[in-house]
Amino acid sequence: MLIVMRHGATEEELQRVIAVIRDMGYQARPMPGSQRTAVGLVGNDGRVDSSRLEGLAGVQEVIHVSQPYKQVSREWKPENTVVRLPGGVAIGGADVAVIAGPCSVESEAQVIQAARHVREAGAVILRGGAFKPRTCPYSFQGLGRPALKLLARAREETGLLICTEAIDVEGVGWVSEVADIVQIGARNMQNFSLLRAAGRAGKPVLLKRGISATITELLLSAEYLLAEGNQDVILCERGIRGFDTATRNVFDLAAIPVVQKLSHLPIIADPSHATGLRDKVIPMARAAVAAGADGLIVEVHPNPEAAKSDGAQSLFPEQFAQLMREVRVIAEVIGRRVAEPAPVVA
Ligand code: PEP
Ligand code: MN
Repeated sequence: MLIVMRHGATEEELQRVIAVIRDMGYQARPMPGSQRTAVGLVGNDGRVDSSRLEGLAGVQEVIHVSQPYKQVSREWKPENTVVRLPGGVAIGGADVAVIAGPCSVESEAQVIQAARHVREAGAVILRGGAFKPRTCPYSFQGLGRPALKLLARAREETGLLICTEAIDVEGVGWVSEVADIVQIGARNMQNFSLLRAAGRAGKPVLLKRGISATITELLLSAEYLLAEGNQDVILCERGIRGFDTATRNVFDLAAIPVVQKLSHLPIIADPSHATGLRDKVIPMARAAVAAGADGLIVEVHPNPEAAKSDGAQSLFPEQFAQLMREVRVIAEVIGRRVAEPAPVVA
């Protein structure tokens, strides 16, 4: 529920509203805005009796949020959330931000080479898993903590920001020390203790849609992050499980405009995991930008044939350069711009 204050309501009136919300057993989240000051009421599971609040001095209206997710919804916050990252990179504004790099960090040479390639082509954020959630326990699980150091080195070398995954509560601390964006993978979308830890980590979070999650479930998982006080959440459509084995997953492109209607949070697209096929990544990246994605996350490897994970869907560097050239044109058609990396200061 949202309690919207009258224009010119006093601080005392605002404090009274907060006190009444607390007295009713809920949490109050004051939200000062340029147009209006509102106080969000959180902690309710179902409709709250608003009669005590409606009569208070300074209250203009009480809005009941109809969705089960509250803080994530557009009813709660009509304007888009723009996640601001170091160096002026922003996700959710007019720019389309591209995150690219290998599925896994495999060695210093591999990740630095990948970082140089993707930066040169125009990515602003480097991806690369240190901790890999693998379907098979015998598959490469990632280099772990040493890979975080390699990612930090790649950032020093190239100026790219770092996006990397945390797969358990213990890892959130390590990952958030290094990462500019903490990724929560599809398999963990409903790992609620991990979500709570990531919500408290003090870093922006990239939340990927679960393999068989509905859009409502995705938004409810995002609500866990906002409920812990983290507003910097980026959603990601990465394909869902279908019956057809022609592609690794079914890329739910419609999820992009659907989420944008329901939520103020930015949503990016992952055409790599969505298709699982290298030659399908470029067309689906184009489609995602055309559909309004706020960014892309793409797997690129200096030598995909030798990749320790997801080689079949990883682009060769020159293919990624082609992808960037093409999505720049598409972004322009819909009044957007692909974010450009800042010049490296020597
Ligand atoms: C990844 O980004 O490499 C990954 C494991 O993605 P997802 O969680 O979407 O499968
Ligand atoms: Mn991968």
